[in-house]
Amino acid sequence: MSVQAVTAKMAEVELKDVTAAATVEPSPVTTAPSPVKMPQASAMKRPDPQQNGGEAFVNCDGTVAEAPRMKKIQFADQKQEFNKRPTKISRRSLSRSISQSSTDSYSSAASYTDSSDDETSPRDKQQKNSKGNADFCIKNIKQADFGRREIEIAEQEMPALMALRKRAQGEKPLAGAKIVGCTHITAQTAVLMETLSALGAQCRWAACNIYSTQNEVAAALAEGGFSVFAWKGESEDDFWWCIDRCVNVEGWQPNMILDDGGDLTHWIYKKYPNMFKKIKGIVEESVTGVHRLYQLSKAGKLCVPAMNVNDSVTKQKFDNLYCCRESILDGLKRTTDVMFGGKQVVVCGYGEVGKGCSAALKAMGSIVYVTEIDPICALQACMDGFRLVKLNEVIRQVDIVITCTGNKNVVVREYMDRMKNGCIVCNMGHSNTEIDVASLRTPELTWERVRSQVDHVIWPDGKRIVLLAEGRLLNLSCSTVPTFVLSITATTQALALIELYNAPEGRYKQDVYLLPKKMDEYVASLHLPTFDAHLTELSDEQAKYLGLNKNGPFKPNYYRY
Ligand code: NAD
Repeated sequence: MSVQAVTAKMAEVELKDVTAAATVEPSPVTTAPSPVKMPQASAMKRPDPQQNGGEAFVNCDGTVAEAPRMKKIQFADQKQEFNKRPTKISRRSLSRSISQSSTDSYSSAASYTDSSDDETSPRDKQQKNSKGNADFCIKNIKQADFGRREIEIAEQEMPALMALRKRAQGEKPLAGAKIVGCTHITAQTAVLMETLSALGAQCRWAACNIYSTQNEVAAALAEGGFSVFAWKGESEDDFWWCIDRCVNVEGWQPNMILDDGGDLTHWIYKKYPNMFKKIKGIVEESVTGVHRLYQLSKAGKLCVPAMNVNDSVTKQKFDNLYCCRESILDGLKRTTDVMFGGKQVVVCGYGEVGKGCSAALKAMGSIVYVTEIDPICALQACMDGFRLVKLNEVIRQVDIVITCTGNKNVVVREYMDRMKNGCIVCNMGHSNTEIDVASLRTPELTWERVRSQVDHVIWPDGKRIVLLAEGRLLNLSCSTVPTFVLSITATTQALALIELYNAPEGRYKQDVYLLPKKMDEYVASLHLPTFDAHLTELSDEQAKYLGLNKNGPFKPNYYRY
């Protein structure tokens, strides 16, 4: 669909109704209408869904506390000099010790960029854009035209952000906002950044993942005047240097944070705690970052209000499910060229991600088994037509094993010893803890790198298993994720920024909030015209019967979708 066709469709979105809905039923903490004509109900507080979820977190005094279950985040030594250049080898090894979120976060696309052509570190280059601006650090500014085309392609699948831009004409809900961002730098993020800019914000941006930057997109952003500090294949030192360059700048101080993984937030806490005096709020996208925020909040150390975008319905029920439903096949295909029809697959975990993976593989003709620990999800799997098994019952016969539990040691060495020759093993969960990869690093096993991100692990009798992305997220590491799904998440992020930035004093305390349901419904409604979907309206009589406002919200907060 062309850009024109999409924007024409967006013009048909019935925004008035949604806007009206915002003023009808303010949630308890809403005190004044915001200047933005969007749903304005204030966000809901919600307890941390996974108490002590195992993430590392930072105290206000800058120390890092380690919670159970997960590895402690590793920060560059405070005293480390930023201008120290790692060698190529040490860059690689450093990258293995970088913070978990920066390497495992799941919401990004892999880049098509080949960064191997030029070995010079971007930090050693003097680059300027065509207007003479040098306030950026990227791989190669000459790739800007290529990046611009990538951004234009992404725009076609991000209708809601484009609609927000159109709506903002003359109205700048983010005027005066100085947003520092740390997310994957991809074409989709570029569409978000350019939307924030169109809404009046100034942005400085770093990457939340050392591998996921699309260099050409970073170039297009720099050419367009954005201060971007990111390139594909950063070292750990580069990673923190880039974040620092975003915040440590003369004459500019951020007043909003958009984070994915919590590293940027952590850096400001650790190095520039005074900055929080001017910061109006944090918007956090990832599971990891959200856990850190809840832990800060519980410890009474959260200095500003924060929005948990990760647990928005429009994130969890779309990103986790639909993103994985599409990208599991892509990731497997690109790495192994496997045919799915008739293959026996076991999916470990039947949450949102597991449901997406199982559905996609079933649709391709695979025979899918599911493992679960939770009887509710197990029953869902059964009623969706999957055989619920224990892993040891099928491990000898399956062709593909996929983990999506968010847990650890789901596939251990004992199981891998029993797998059949050629079995493909991969992970779709957040961290690289689900498959016990370390147990495969023993002298009797031989590792053979057969393709990028594909290892054959060979047993003494010649049996080999195919391990993808060394047990890291398959779709992040080996494929791209669908732009339209990211559009939904990015729109939620944009609305969260607008809401926090414009909220009157006192609406939000120093705590973690969820976006209100009306905002979720608004985000969804902005995406419906793409499908030429026609929403039924409640009649007055029906609205009265159901006890609903005709403009929403249509479900109670406890509704599970
Ligand atoms: P979820 O909590 O909805 O589902 C996980 C399921 O795994 C639960 O039903 C749980 O009961 C089950 N489980 C836990 N331990 C198990 C075990 N030992 N054996 C079998 N089942 C077990 O979570 P989700 O939204 O499906 O996310 C799962 C993971 O994927 C998380 O780590 C999340 O961060 C990540 N994620 C990945 C992507 C991606 O693009 N790859 C997208 C979103 C989320």
